[in-house]
Amino acid sequence: MNSLECKKCGRWVDNVGENTKTVTCSYCTMMLVGMPEEPKSTYKPTGRPAGWHWMAEFVDKDGNVFHKGKEQPKLKGTLKPTKVKPPKKRKTKRRTRDQILVAKYKEKQKLKRELKKQQDFLNHKTEDK
Ligand SMILES: [Zn+2]
Repeated sequence: MNSLECKKCGRWVDNVGENTKTVTCSYCTMMLVGMPEEPKSTYKPTGRPAGWHWMAEFVDKDGNVFHKGKEQPKLKGTLKPTKVKPPKKRKTKRRTRDQILVAKYKEKQKLKRELKKQQDFLNHKTEDK
């Protein structure tokens, strides 16, 4: 029996037939059929980058070595884990109440200025005529 990564979400699927090349896990199958989505809390990322199967050599954080997605048990622990670029973290600055008020005020001033500009522009036009 084999284990394969689900082609959609990367979850390991056990008991895969020997000749199976791609597999869709039960969750993704359920989603395809339109069943309710799995709860987010059960999702465990593998920590492997997308497309690691196709890398000539990939070492996961536990020291498991893969050559083009095939595990090389003999090499386990002999190589340093392949560095995976962490996904970009979005900086979500929590704004304080004051900052929000200031931002709103500035926005208002900007709108006022813009409005005035427009009016000036219109007035100018009418004056010119
Ligand atoms: Zn899946």
